[in-house]
Amino acid sequence: MTGPVAFVTGGASGIGRATVLRLAGDGFRVIAADRDGDKLDALIGEAPAGGVETCVLDVCDRPAVAAAIAAPERLDALVCVAGIYQPRAFDAISDADFRAMLDVNLIGVFIAAQEAARRMTAGARIVTVSSRAAIGGTNFAHYVASKAGVVGLTRAMAMELRPRQIAVNSVAPGFTDTPMTRTMPPDQYARAQELELGGKAADPADIAGAIAFLASPATHFITGQTLFVDGGKSLGGLGL
Ligand code: NAP
Repeated sequence: MTGPVAFVTGGASGIGRATVLRLAGDGFRVIAADRDGDKLDALIGEAPAGGVETCVLDVCDRPAVAAAIAAPERLDALVCVAGIYQPRAFDAISDADFRAMLDVNLIGVFIAAQEAARRMTAGARIVTVSSRAAIGGTNFAHYVASKAGVVGLTRAMAMELRPRQIAVNSVAPGFTDTPMTRTMPPDQYARAQELELGGKAADPADIAGAIAFLASPATHFITGQTLFVDGGKSLGGLGL
């Protein structure tokens, strides 16, 4: 691969997919990693010719992630999008539920970021995807905890990687129209949309735009930040 290279986990669906297409359009050569090869194959048809490669892996599988991240001759940006969501009342969350959530949403980010940071050079960027849920939410306490963990991890990595001029930031999406949120029953989805800016969920491309900004080398003075892309809902005081 020639030119800047970006590695995107969760690249086959929703926000990750939009990010892959956006970064490819911005001139990155993009490696889209996900656990479903068929979804990745479908993505290739929509990407600029030769702009996207795919890689089937599970972000919890350290050897697979290490090999995939070591493969390209350079690595300019890592974007950690892969995540799972499981609505469940606090009282009904099992230890296994909680551990599975942390495995993918937090330890999966840690593994990819650590492998990437080991080979990145000055000017490279790491962008994590947390969530507005990092500030709280009901009926998914394990998801909230995992995303608050991503915000903390992002800040800690930013501090340690700062001397090497590798910036680490997070994008915290609000309610976004993706296959993940479309698993909600339609009436619940409609009610959730009503609370959003303009009465609509964000488009994955809205989130990808913020990710692309933070993945760009131009943002070298921004690090350790979490950019909420949620129509202002995280501000509170909106009568919601
Ligand atoms: P999505 O459409 O389900 O996309 C997530 C992708 O990550 C899927 O292709 C999924 O594969 C993949 N993935 C899950 N676990 C993986 C693993 N262990 N290894 C590799 N890939 C894995 O969801 P999305 O809405 O775009 O969400 C993307 C990210 O944004 C997530 O971190 C999510 O928490 C965050 N987020 C989303 C929203 C929202 O409203 N949509 C809001 C805030 C934050 P499978 O389909 O096989 O699971």
